[in-house]
Amino acid sequence: MSEPITAADAEILLAQPRGFCAGVDRAIEIVERALQRFGAPIYVRHEIVHNAYVVADLRRKGAVFVRELDEVPAGATVIFSAHGVSKEVRNEAQARGLNVFDATCPLVTKVHVEVGKMRAEGCEIVMIGHKGHPEVEGTMGQAEGGMLLVESVADVQTLQVADPARLAYVTQTTLSVDETLEIVAALKARFPLIAEPKKQDICYATQNRQDAVKFMAPQVDVVIVVGSPNSSNSNRLRELAERLGVPAYMVDAPEQLRAEWIAGKRRIGLTAGASAPEALAQSIVDRLRELGARNVRSLGGIEETMSFPLPKGLQPVAG
Ligand code: SF4
Repeated sequence: MSEPITAADAEILLAQPRGFCAGVDRAIEIVERALQRFGAPIYVRHEIVHNAYVVADLRRKGAVFVRELDEVPAGATVIFSAHGVSKEVRNEAQARGLNVFDATCPLVTKVHVEVGKMRAEGCEIVMIGHKGHPEVEGTMGQAEGGMLLVESVADVQTLQVADPARLAYVTQTTLSVDETLEIVAALKARFPLIAEPKKQDICYATQNRQDAVKFMAPQVDVVIVVGSPNSSNSNRLRELAERLGVPAYMVDAPEQLRAEWIAGKRRIGLTAGASAPEALAQSIVDRLRELGARNVRSLGGIEETMSFPLPKGLQPVAG
């Protein structure tokens, strides 16, 4: 049996795909273009995406992040974050005459449209998601009542519904694919007539990044996930690696990386959540090199080509 080698011999394996998704790219571009077109300050309701590095960068450029619309002065420009907003927030912005640009990811909007249709058909809707996450608040705020939140299989067992024959479900876009399958199976077992979304709500980026970790985990001794603590999809990547039996840590900045995590490890896997910029991932690679890792190798995987159009008023001028 070969001796475990020191961090000085370690190799870094980069998951593919990792980092920014099309919805995050678009949301950041919306803020940057609004700043260019209208000048600072541009108000942004909630963190545009859940990444401290991105938020700090936009703040430096003139974005002002607020929790609620009452912090936005009359007549100002406000951007809704990629996670989406409730109808109430949208109506409030309109009533106050704010200049709104909506950075809601189109894949979140798809779930909002689904909720609207399901409610119009008279269904009560079960949302699978994490309580308090802005996406869940936005999606549950697409209907006035008639929505129930479940976070786990245990929640399904205690769920009280109005009519099991008029029930449907939707999910948050950034959940664990495997855990969601278990929750859906529990819902179907208890409520066999429950209607499902036409296509799963978990987005392509979440699915692809989880698939990439499944491919990477058996090849490495430790996984480092680049992401902020409030990023749902980044947390799911770390949990997934651990479920696959590999110690996994999440870092938001190079100085958070601890030497003991990689001491004696032969191969270090690196991935990044959908809201984590590649520059940040590269700074983690640099830190790993400082700690003694040698080679960096990109793993094979899906090349993503998805992109979403910018909202009217922020699109590039032709010519
Ligand atoms: S993680 Fe998925 S739903 Fe969220 S912004 Fe990216 S593409 Fe859109």
